[in-house]
Amino acid sequence: MSKARTIAVVGAGFSGAVIAHQLAKAGHRVTVFEARGHLAGNCHTERDAETGVMTHVYGPHIFHTDNERVWSFITGFGEFVPYVNRVKAITGGRVYTLPINLLTINQFFGRTLRPSEARDFLESIADTSIESPATFEEQALRFVGRELYEAFFKGYTQKQWGLDPSELPASILKRLPVRFNYDDNYFNHRRQGIPKDGYSALVERMLQVPGVSVHLGTAFEPARKVEFGHVFYSGPIDAWFGHGKGRLAYRTLDFEVFREAGDYQGNAVINYCEQKVPYTRVTEHKHFAPWENHACTVCYREFSRACGESDVPYYPVRLAREKAQLAEYVDMAKREGNVTFVGRLGTYRYLDMDVTIKEALEVADEFLSRTRGEARMPAFIASPLA
Ligand code: UDP
Repeated sequence: MSKARTIAVVGAGFSGAVIAHQLAKAGHRVTVFEARGHLAGNCHTERDAETGVMTHVYGPHIFHTDNERVWSFITGFGEFVPYVNRVKAITGGRVYTLPINLLTINQFFGRTLRPSEARDFLESIADTSIESPATFEEQALRFVGRELYEAFFKGYTQKQWGLDPSELPASILKRLPVRFNYDDNYFNHRRQGIPKDGYSALVERMLQVPGVSVHLGTAFEPARKVEFGHVFYSGPIDAWFGHGKGRLAYRTLDFEVFREAGDYQGNAVINYCEQKVPYTRVTEHKHFAPWENHACTVCYREFSRACGESDVPYYPVRLAREKAQLAEYVDMAKREGNVTFVGRLGTYRYLDMDVTIKEALEVADEFLSRTRGEARMPAFIASPLA
């Protein structure tokens, strides 16, 4: 191993940190380059200087997974406190629970339906002429009908994506369940929690392995790849190629931060579903850590907009135009040699934290099995175009 060349990992979010950890543990020397001044990418957490509240600096992140390998890996770096995300939604001057569940349906329609009655009722108001929903709007109309769609999804989605739901894929709405019971857990996964010391502390511990050196505030120039045995790149795929085929579109977020005494909204996340309210949601961070006590509170009002050149990219847009561009970048990436593109930005996909970690573990597995056999590492392990 001593003669093996150092591995470069670009980006210290979950993708980069997991790969660096796994490779270093197997005996490789790894240098991590992170352009920003902190670890953990958009999962970064830090204590608010004024209130002492642990804040999710780039917006709310709740860890949830059904993948036992991911859960046992991540919980090896710090305690997770069980946490169930119970999102509230304001629309039409009323507060409801999300995801759409029996309470939402009964309150919205002023009914007292039981599960099977609610199922029949939604089927009676749904647009059953839509056989295979392709767009977000068709998916909503088919499964919850026009009234619930317009109250909870239409305005929020227009604000979040800057597009009409008729232009967006059904996959975005499929993230949210519809339940015919009173379960208002936002996620279906068995394992859910919030890291007690925040996400950045987890990533810091992950990178505290002999063999890993981390350079914060250090961008990585693609031309430097020849200096390394292999490069794992979790930055934006189009940036690696100097945006030669155009810029891939992202949504970015702006946060209006405000602080006050006491409890502002009584819940971690409240969505504002109507178009007329300019923000999408308000996050009150101290409710993510109910085991802590804080006299004051810090909240983020969240606004979504198109991502400019110097903004932080959050959500990949992935419409037909971007997918065509992406296909060109994927071809270029496959010809690049000794670079593997990973994570949300490297593969231009809307990935949750657990999927990011799962894929990063698999990338590391693949690399370790190939270095034994001397075979070349592919540019991707999961197709970005799927
Ligand atoms: N969504 C909506 N109304 C809501 C919450 C979500 O229309 O109150 C739609 C919206 O298009 C959003 C998608 O569902 O982008 C996925 O929501 P999720 O809460 O998973 O988004 P994230 O927390 O990843 O931003």
